[in-house]
Amino acid sequence: MIRIAAVLALVLAATATAQTGGSQQTVRQVKPNLFVVEGAGGNTTLWVSNHGLILVDDKIAGAENFDNLVAAVRSVSDLPVRAVFNTHRHFDHVGNNAAFLAAGVLVIGTDTLATDLARQDKAAPNLVFSRDFSLILDTGRADAHHYRAGHTADDAIVVFPSVHAVALGGLVVSGTPTFDFESGANLAGWVATLEDILQLDVDIGIPGRGKPVTRADIAAFRDSLVTFQARSVAAVQRGVPQSKLIAAVRVDDLGWAWSPAAWPPARVAGLWRESGGK
Ligand SMILES: [Zn+2]
Repeated sequence: MIRIAAVLALVLAATATAQTGGSQQTVRQVKPNLFVVEGAGGNTTLWVSNHGLILVDDKIAGAENFDNLVAAVRSVSDLPVRAVFNTHRHFDHVGNNAAFLAAGVLVIGTDTLATDLARQDKAAPNLVFSRDFSLILDTGRADAHHYRAGHTADDAIVVFPSVHAVALGGLVVSGTPTFDFESGANLAGWVATLEDILQLDVDIGIPGRGKPVTRADIAAFRDSLVTFQARSVAAVQRGVPQSKLIAAVRVDDLGWAWSPAAWPPARVAGLWRESGGK
């Protein structure tokens, strides 16, 4: 324990950067024993218990990304990685499941996520849950919850109760969110899940991408989703055709901007249906 504490003290004052080349990954300390590894896809949360390490999400697939992630983790602790949680099915969060499974690490996710990854011939979790799952490694308790479909059908969050922190997966992002209706997204469910998260005893969140967020940031993101939802419903109600729905819903004042690829027809159809379109 003394040795681990010494290693942590070294990184407390500054961030560390993995130096193995390729897509850079940067370590940021969030709380005592809690870190986030940024870069190469979505954020990876790193939780240090005295019985080993727990990760949440494992970035875009690739040996270089995996090696850099391991190097970033090793800059914090040389304890073994015990488990990797998957927050949702998107490629930038679950890309290196196969490498962790090959290393004997438990990969944990919802049953819907596991089914979807297996359907795509991608490495799926070898430990699945449907709603709530707790991993208790001595000082390292982590509680995963799946509430309902939101950003995708699978969304899970991972709470670290001892430090009042939560890994949010794709449920909170900095910048413009993705509404992946093709993967079972549900805007009303997303808002309701953020309400549930705001009931938790947490004071900091690690978003899918971007810097750690406060409760106020989570509430502001929820408010943006509610505004977007209301505008989409209003557009459908005033007779905007499906093909013009996205252009008719203002988002620039929410700080969002769509890329040309953001709304393929199946995605627009999902928003249209959820907004009451017939
Ligand atoms: Zn995502």
